Amino acid sequence: MKNAVLIIYTGGTIGMVQDEKGALHPFEMNRIYDALPQLKHAAYNIDSCQLDPIIDSSNMNPEVWKNIAEVIEREYNNYDGFVVLHGTDTMAYTASALSFVFENLGKPIVLTGSQLPLGMLRTDGRENIICALEIASAQKMLIPEVCIFFENKLYRGNRSTKISAQNFNAFSSFNYPSLAVAGIDIYYKNDLIATAPSQPMKVYKQFNENIAILHLFPGITKEVVHSILSIKGLEAVIISTYGSGNAPTEEWFLKELEAAVAKGIIVYDVTQCKSGSVNIGRYATSSDLGRIGVVSGYDITIEAAVTKMMFLLGNYTNKTTITTLLTQSLRGEITL
Ligand code: ASP
Repeated sequence: MKNAVLIIYTGGTIGMVQDEKGALHPFEMNRIYDALPQLKHAAYNIDSCQLDPIIDSSNMNPEVWKNIAEVIEREYNNYDGFVVLHGTDTMAYTASALSFVFENLGKPIVLTGSQLPLGMLRTDGRENIICALEIASAQKMLIPEVCIFFENKLYRGNRSTKISAQNFNAFSSFNYPSLAVAGIDIYYKNDLIATAPSQPMKVYKQFNENIAILHLFPGITKEVVHSILSIKGLEAVIISTYGSGNAPTEEWFLKELEAAVAKGIIVYDVTQCKSGSVNIGRYATSSDLGRIGVVSGYDITIEAAVTKMMFLLGNYTNKTTITTLLTQSLRGEITL
């Protein structure tokens, strides 16, 4: 029997057309079949649906993550895998968010998109969609993960980052190898792919957006730090730190962080470096952060950090539980 895949079209360049002024807008899902008639003869069955409205992914938000999650939850038993067509701009955020939504996921959810619309001759979308479908429908290899397929690689979604606004090779996963590489055959790296769960799937659709990112830079003023940490209702702040999690040791800075922690704000240390890990205490410039109660992000991406924090705050109330879960790998998002 043929496997079945559901395509969920959310928008993005892959399905855009140019208006008379040259600006790109999303268009209807059925045009994808016009551009890829060969899909009708694939070795797997394909159904499709689209979100309403379809969006440029710069307009992505937790409400839309919830909508995507609901479609997958509703159709979970009807398909062997899911392909989510998505704009590239925030694809790594959505892939990370969905990875936290589905605990004990037993089927592939593959996000893909393109840098050039499907209707263009040089489009990268054709290869991306066809490979994503092949992976999501594969009978010989099960990938029970939320992934991104782009150019010729399959990445763990919550390890991925968009790295180029120009190249077809637009994504990378700096702290975890790719899960598969598409050449003449698709080569799956079995030992890097999550194993199928033994427990039933659980779906968490709540996200709490009361977070902020405090991106450090030399010369950052007390006013900037203070105003971010004084945001009404703020429950967590990600400090985007230098190197292995380092920050200024000036007294005013540490006092601001201390006051935030004392107010119950979770302070999460995520490095600005694309690869490598936070290691609180390695340098004197991070020792105070540990003393204050700042939580290490290890080698998490900023996209996974944002969505993990929103997911934890949305589904747990106890701060100690949340900080404990931040330092655990829930869906393979950090290396411990
Ligand atoms: N702005 C587009 C989006 O993210 C870019 C793309 O799809 O590549 O929806």
